[in-house]
Amino acid sequence: MPETPTGARWERLLSARDASLIDAGAAGERTVAQARLVLTAVLATIPIQAVVERPGSPENWMGFAAVGVFFAFAVTVLWALGHGLYRPWFAVATSVYDVTSVTAILLVFVVMGRPQIAVNSRVIFEIYLLAISATCLRYDGRTPLVAGAVAVAEYAAIVFFVRANYDLASPEYRGFGQFSWGDQVGRLIILSVAALLAWAILQRAERLRQLSTHDPLTGLLNRNVLEERVREEVIRARRHSRSLAVAMVDLDLFKRFNDAYGHAAGDLVLRTFSRTLREAVRRTDIVARFGGEEFVVVMPETPVIDAGAKLDQIRRAMEELQIQAPGEPGARVTLSAGVASFDPARDHGLRILERADDLLMAAKRAGRNCVMSEFGVVPPGVLDGARRESDDARVDARTRRS
Ligand code: GH3
Ligand code: MG
Ligand code: MG
Repeated sequence: MPETPTGARWERLLSARDASLIDAGAAGERTVAQARLVLTAVLATIPIQAVVERPGSPENWMGFAAVGVFFAFAVTVLWALGHGLYRPWFAVATSVYDVTSVTAILLVFVVMGRPQIAVNSRVIFEIYLLAISATCLRYDGRTPLVAGAVAVAEYAAIVFFVRANYDLASPEYRGFGQFSWGDQVGRLIILSVAALLAWAILQRAERLRQLSTHDPLTGLLNRNVLEERVREEVIRARRHSRSLAVAMVDLDLFKRFNDAYGHAAGDLVLRTFSRTLREAVRRTDIVARFGGEEFVVVMPETPVIDAGAKLDQIRRAMEELQIQAPGEPGARVTLSAGVASFDPARDHGLRILERADDLLMAAKRAGRNCVMSEFGVVPPGVLDGARRESDDARVDARTRRS
């Protein structure tokens, strides 16, 4: 696996994550939403009981109203997730909501004239820890850090506010433990450590998930994920009557290259080519290592003529690429590709991949170092110039939309 420099790690932490992590985060968000609803329902029994016992007390009604708001939020989030309204920013937003709702409960105690409970309560304070540990299910490294920082800031603000405005030593506030700065600092440290531990767990989980979805040599998606994504794109193309192209690419006579220059040089070619391929296609295209020296590019919303031209452009780039194999600078490797376009009458499941593979075989039979579509060998440079401009305009429009 290539080393990840610190800068790249931070960039990954702050930037958009890959689709599989977002899916895992969405599933985790649903679990948290269910737990939130159950916990809110259990907590609701306290103010409900208080209101039943002393309906004349406005403070009890305040607690009742606060729990009503929490309950409405918990139901709304669960409803939104059930209706496919999940967005990646939910992770940070709902985590901040969770810790802030704990702070809100503590504030209710302050307003009710029981500040000693706000700073000495055990059960309520521990819900901060539950909220921070639940960030692990969001598969987003930013969540525990943001939620932890918000919890520390809000709890510290409550402690300073209570300390500055109430004399907790007075008999009126007795009965809920002694206020001590040592305890309060300890609590803030526990919150910080909990956030850092959740972050560390998440880093490991992300790494394991990366290993299970990506090819370690090239960093591209692996075959399992690819097949899942092809099925999804086929369904999408059919549902929205959109074009879809799938290309299967294979390096030519690569066994001979390995035999001549060694396996390490072969690995270098695979890595270099993967980078070239990823950079040559759109960010929304799916690029995967299908097996040994075979790669697949899935190009949603792309007519076969554009896909064929793009693949031929990549073929020519590869032809010109000099591989700096140890002891043999300037070695060259060519590629062959088959490009299939989505056909609603024929393509179900992974059939389009099989058709791309058949076209690849036809490209090999046609003499290698060429791109084959259903219309025959793609002529080199077929769409250079005029087409490139309209392509760029479309990519620009799409970037503006997203
Ligand atoms: P063709 O043009 O017909 O595709 O010929 P080919 O030699 O490329 O095809 P073949 O399938 O016979 O050989 C594929 C070779 O790819 C076999 C193996 O040496 C090489 N290969 C597969 N995976 C790796 C890898 O991870 N690293 C390296 N260095 N070589 C690999
Ligand atoms: Mg080959
Ligand atoms: Mg092969």
